[in-house]
Amino acid sequence: MIPAVGYRLWRVDRADGWTGTHLQSLVAETLWPPRDRLVAACSAWLAHRRGRPVGRSAPPHVSPAPECSCGAHAFHDLRQMLRQADELESPDADRFVFGGAVLCWGRVVIHPEGIRAQYARPLALCRPRDREVSLVVQRNLREVADAYAVPLIEADHLVAYAQEFGTSYRPEPQRVRLLGRAREALGWLRWPRRRP
Ligand SMILES: [Zn+2]
Repeated sequence: MIPAVGYRLWRVDRADGWTGTHLQSLVAETLWPPRDRLVAACSAWLAHRRGRPVGRSAPPHVSPAPECSCGAHAFHDLRQMLRQADELESPDADRFVFGGAVLCWGRVVIHPEGIRAQYARPLALCRPRDREVSLVVQRNLREVADAYAVPLIEADHLVAYAQEFGTSYRPEPQRVRLLGRAREALGWLRWPRRRP
């Protein structure tokens, strides 16, 4: 399989001594390991391994499973990622949300809007389109990019850069109709519209 390319957002909270410069998933609060791949894990699977009771709706499985919502999420389309970024609050000096391109591989589940993957790694981070973003935020972004050893790239150039590493797995339009029904059943991308 050629690795899949996708686009997603992360939260970074510099004020949190535990997370520091780590990229953090918006919903699952998973910390993405710097300079390494993220190995997706399902909370139901982890509960099973730790001997905790597992809900009947999510039997233990390797992530991602088609019937679950686990896995490393990414949009097929950069514009969807940018749209989601616009819906979130503006970043402040210490806590902010920003996006980038990711490479996804291993076990994957393909949805109309995006992909869920077993393994993922950031390829590049996206410079904020807002030219008024503070110098403190810009410095924090640079430190995060350095921690992950990835470049900071303008949104206009991000797709061209990412496609050097993999390919889009966006379904053809006729497949989107079929996947759309599955999406309604699965609840793809249950990300918050606002940061908590
Ligand atoms: Zn799962």
